[in-house]
Amino acid sequence: MKVTELWKSSKKPTVSFELFPARSAKAAEGLEKTIDEIAALKPDFVSVTFGAGGSTREGSYNLVKKLIKDKGLRTVAYFTCYGLGPSDIKAVLDSYRDLGVETILAARGDPPHDQPDFKPHPESLAHASDLVAFVRPRYDFCIAAAGYPEKHIEAQSPEKDREYLKLKVENGADFVVTNYFYDNKSFFEFEDHCRKLGIKVPLLPGVMPIYSVKMMENLAALCGATISQEIRDGIAKLPAGDAGTLQAFGVDFALDQCRGLLKHGVPGLHFYTMDRSAAVVPIVRRLRDEGLL
Ligand SMILES: Cc1cc2nc3c(=O)[nH]c(=O)nc-3n(C[C@H](O)[C@H](O)[C@H](O)COP(=O)(O)OP(=O)(O)OC[C@H]3O[C@@H](n4cnc5c(N)ncnc54)[C@H](O)[C@@H]3O)c2cc1C
Repeated sequence: MKVTELWKSSKKPTVSFELFPARSAKAAEGLEKTIDEIAALKPDFVSVTFGAGGSTREGSYNLVKKLIKDKGLRTVAYFTCYGLGPSDIKAVLDSYRDLGVETILAARGDPPHDQPDFKPHPESLAHASDLVAFVRPRYDFCIAAAGYPEKHIEAQSPEKDREYLKLKVENGADFVVTNYFYDNKSFFEFEDHCRKLGIKVPLLPGVMPIYSVKMMENLAALCGATISQEIRDGIAKLPAGDAGTLQAFGVDFALDQCRGLLKHGVPGLHFYTMDRSAAVVPIVRRLRDEGLL
């Protein structure tokens, strides 16, 4: 079933988890455990990222295959077109279609930072809106696009960024998955602005629990998410270097965020797991106990 069909057939908000292919044997063991713990929650779907410039092409394919065939999970395959030519784009999308993938997320991606000599294909597509336009007439996928409540890091302004988001929808995107944010106000303003622009498709908020201070700082610098004063003050009160209390703080903070989003009426919650289950499992269980999910 395509993801947009889920929202048509059920009034309950969806729960979904993003995973990425493991980069080492140790990480693969951890990922296996995460998948089993997440599968036990019976998510509406899981998703798998696709590395810059096709760097995880095989790993992403194998993970999507495992999730669908071995674990029986509805799986959304992300696809980024940066640097790839039309025949590579078609080969990857054909392989996902043949696996039974029904929903993809079509993103532009970024230059691979660990491959300084990477040369984009001369016919590679410049923007995600071009990729959506490429996919729409060729495949029967339900298509998601990436949205940025605090604007994309390269965008001239939130207004310009949302005009381009509108173009992705006009070109065929069926729903939007957002980047994470720590202040729900930024999502509510983004949603309001999108609706005023005439973007009518579901806007699915991304939630990133705080896993470690270092990871939070690094990722925020990469994607432009604002770390609120509330978070900084909360962390400053915790015993320095105590991973357990930080984890508990991250779970409580994300729980409050999720409660606010669900009470607002979002179509679902999409968790960025970083291939870890320790935070997202108690969050989802608690929201279910509270009858919010
Ligand atoms: C939900 C989600 C999932 C993601 N999954 C992955 C993944 O699996 N792998 C990965 O490598 N990265 C992933 N990313 C990150 C993403 O690839 C980067 O943020 C990338 O820099 C932009 O991708 P995009 O699809 O938003 O690009 P675009 O929509 O093309 O936007 C990129 C920039 O160009 C501007 N722009 C857009 N269209 C035009 C236009 N027509 N003319 C001029 N400017 C334009 C936008 O304002 C923006 O600043 C994901 C992001 C999100 C939010």
